[in-house]
Amino acid sequence: MTQTGWNFDNSYARLPNKLFSTIDLSPVQSPELVILNESLAKSLGLDPEVLQSEEGVSVFAGNNTPEGSQPIAQAYAGHQFGHFTMLGDGRAMLVGEQITPDGERFDIQLKGSGRTPYSRGGDGRAALGPMLREHIISEAMHALGIPTTRSLAVVTTGEPVIRETELPGAILTRVAASHLRVGTFEFIANWGTEEELRALADYAIERHYSEIKKDENRYLSLLQEVIKRQASLVAKWQQIGFIHGVMNTDNVTISGETIDYGPCAFMDTYDPETVFSSIDVRGRYMYANQPPITAWNLARFAETLIPLIHDNQEKAIELAENEISRFGDLYRDFWLSGMRAKLGIFNEEPEDETLIGDLHKLMKEHEADFTNTFRAFTFDKLEDANLFKAEEFTQWHKRWQDRLGKQQESKEESQQLMQDNNPAVIPRNHRVEEALEAAVERGDYSEMEKLLDVLSNPYAHTPDQEEYCTLPPDSDRPYVTYCGT
Ligand code: AMP
Ligand code: MG
Repeated sequence: MTQTGWNFDNSYARLPNKLFSTIDLSPVQSPELVILNESLAKSLGLDPEVLQSEEGVSVFAGNNTPEGSQPIAQAYAGHQFGHFTMLGDGRAMLVGEQITPDGERFDIQLKGSGRTPYSRGGDGRAALGPMLREHIISEAMHALGIPTTRSLAVVTTGEPVIRETELPGAILTRVAASHLRVGTFEFIANWGTEEELRALADYAIERHYSEIKKDENRYLSLLQEVIKRQASLVAKWQQIGFIHGVMNTDNVTISGETIDYGPCAFMDTYDPETVFSSIDVRGRYMYANQPPITAWNLARFAETLIPLIHDNQEKAIELAENEISRFGDLYRDFWLSGMRAKLGIFNEEPEDETLIGDLHKLMKEHEADFTNTFRAFTFDKLEDANLFKAEEFTQWHKRWQDRLGKQQESKEESQQLMQDNNPAVIPRNHRVEEALEAAVERGDYSEMEKLLDVLSNPYAHTPDQEEYCTLPPDSDRPYVTYCGT
């Protein structure tokens, strides 16, 4: 172990060579630490003091690697907007796998660390704004209780990156249960041997699903488990109004963590057709499509496993299809139980699905703010919003109250359940933009730090969160997000 607490293993680098490339460091001019996630550092067994020293920062900048690190870029493929392509870490470097004091294993990856054999035409670099944005949103997701990769640090490089204009360069240190993706399996299924595919599948099982290791058909179990985690994940996104924006198969993890915070954003006004991403012109990844797209992505995963599932291909396809066909029900169950909690409902009644569906219809019709509607329910403060003034809503509200009457739990218990499931604050787009502007344009990180603090406890419902609950001023322009910038 190093003085900082780095304690690396490199199990991925022991997989078949095809799956990665060893890379040389691409040092940057004058790295400066702009954010350090101290609590995450501590939970990884790292010393925040040492991380802030020149030596610590040089690791975040990719200028130096700690003892025990074996820097690689990972190979992967992916279906991007439905089209199959060869990809790989074009601007990322896996520094190593940190073994924490609790014996857990996390990938430590630099994003924006320079060119790799997979960079194609790209410069391998990243701009400060998008890296800070990833830091804010991934940390907010974590605090909201949604499985996600995390951000340990952001450093500026002291070098410009050329996009439409010249922007300050930065590198983010991403922490993940692993960076195994559906696209990793697609890569090896297309360009590897069956032995290599098996090695990858066994590795994924060992790393994320060791409880299925001894199952009769462990590869079918792997498919089942990934389907389950992804169904649970996308249900959580829907319940919080999160729109990922670029649900390509290379952005779907085997661990079930949310990954790749490019064009993502949270929805204010409830509208199932919401799309923020500038490149998603057909709305493939709109809010309402996230569950069916997850199923589509999982079908791509299932295809890669066919040779492992059964010697008889037809039988293997039948088994895999059978699992994929279960996604709809699994998702529905996760979604229903999450929505019941948002409405303070503990038990199950057949009428629940209609009750919840009808609420969504009313929210759409009356352009209700997604987060604030549930927040108002939680504190029984049905003021201001158009939705609450509507006659149909009064009828719906009575149905809901009658429904709450059909459970044993008290009003207080119901309210507590709602409070634990309906956040006071989400990273509202206008707030994120304000904080980014102050940081990137003026080097003022105070707004961002305050925002991060408020977002770190979204279910607290404290008075200092009030000002972060307000909606953006009316604007003619819809909010637009950008990919891979
Ligand atoms: P993303 O949209 O960030 O998931 O990136 C898709 C693919 O493009 C991945 O293979 C990335 O590594 C690669 N990529 C994105 N930005 C860059 C860049 N600036 N330089 C090189 N490769 C990049
Ligand atoms: Mg990606």
